[in-house]
Amino acid sequence: MNNNMDSIITRRQSREVKVGNVIIGGNNPIVVQSMTNTDTMDTMAIVEQTMRMVEQGCQMVRITASEEKTANNLYNIKNELVKRGCDVPLVADIHFNPKAAEISASLVEKIRINPGNYVDRKWKEGFSDKDYEDILKRAQDNISPLIDICKKHNTAIRIGVNHGSISERIVYRYGNTPLAMAESAMEFLRMFNEMDFLNIVVSMKASNVKVMNQANLILVEKMKEVNMSLPLHLGVTEAGNGEDGRIKSICGIGSLLAQGIGDTIRVSLTEKPENEIPVAKLLANAFSDIYEGKEIEQDAVATREIADSARLLLDDKIDVDSFYLEDEELTKNILQATGKKVFKAEFIACPSCGRTKYDIQSALEKVKEKCFQLKGLKIAVMGCIVNGPGEMADADYGYIGCGNGKVNLYRQGHLIHSSVEEENAINLLISMIKEDGKWVEQQ
Ligand code: SF4
Repeated sequence: MNNNMDSIITRRQSREVKVGNVIIGGNNPIVVQSMTNTDTMDTMAIVEQTMRMVEQGCQMVRITASEEKTANNLYNIKNELVKRGCDVPLVADIHFNPKAAEISASLVEKIRINPGNYVDRKWKEGFSDKDYEDILKRAQDNISPLIDICKKHNTAIRIGVNHGSISERIVYRYGNTPLAMAESAMEFLRMFNEMDFLNIVVSMKASNVKVMNQANLILVEKMKEVNMSLPLHLGVTEAGNGEDGRIKSICGIGSLLAQGIGDTIRVSLTEKPENEIPVAKLLANAFSDIYEGKEIEQDAVATREIADSARLLLDDKIDVDSFYLEDEELTKNILQATGKKVFKAEFIACPSCGRTKYDIQSALEKVKEKCFQLKGLKIAVMGCIVNGPGEMADADYGYIGCGNGKVNLYRQGHLIHSSVEEENAINLLISMIKEDGKWVEQQ
């Protein structure tokens, strides 16, 4: 058993950021949030799903706003929610489209931008520091109208860095590393600081628990160096589903909460978004209680134990070979989630969102059922061909729905078969694994 739980954890002091009627950071309890996965143009479907999430205890709801028309529809969604007496703060998830960001910033309480998407020129070998500064200057000019809107409407921004979509200029300088993720956020934090805008929450997400953990720890130090204390949003991306997805999320998020780091969390599962909330609440409540010096509820004890085990394993404070919990399966899952030992195939799968054009939940079940025995392989099942390929970059094989009942199949990030009929896709994936000599029959 793990007897290394700290009874007192000193919480990192972050500044408060107000998002509608919710405050993130400071000494406020950890905020639980999630994201809808239905079409943003289907107002009623989004509203119904939001209501179900809020009923479970979700305190902030993110919605895809990838284009101007979907951003504009946030107005109808907001109105319908208000009509039903629901004032949960909404967060618009922006990809690539600055205009959608500007529209959303005047309609909802918070927007999420990915610094990796703010690129106006491909980074080339041989670019100088001056080129780098020029690119940043242009990014600042491009983003300044958005900041004016956010200031006017008291809209908060999340700078959401994803390991799978760091800008080339940053990868060129720092490699594809946790440090690169932290630097990617710092670029934008310095920019926003200059514009006197600090209504910001920051996240560093990766599907690899170790990378996510390290990126957050580095960012905390980098912020400290420049006297910044912005609140942190924690999450493990593409954690998958079921027990594996839950353990991976608790390990990543919990390992940081167990060090007093983190102000809002999202557990991403390839399931209905409302399924994410009970797990997230267990984590958030347990650590909010600990920070306040209270006893944690009985049903959160096991969650706390997983979080602490992950913290110690990731920090090399326990010997991997002597680590065990009473539940052998759980012990193995924690060791695999923290990257310390491998017992089975790893499935990377996004939670899906308004961009998803197929039934990713049943696709993931199908792929898992056929491939779980392939110990050591990483297989990704992703929701869209826009962000999926980047986000699953370190997977051995990828299975991505591309709409109209078709699937694209990837090997080591390279597209091998495109627009395969969904019913044939699993067999074609198996043939690819066989061709590579990596197939093993189930016992
Ligand atoms: S990869 Fe998944 S979660 Fe990310 S944008 Fe595509 S469908 Fe949405």
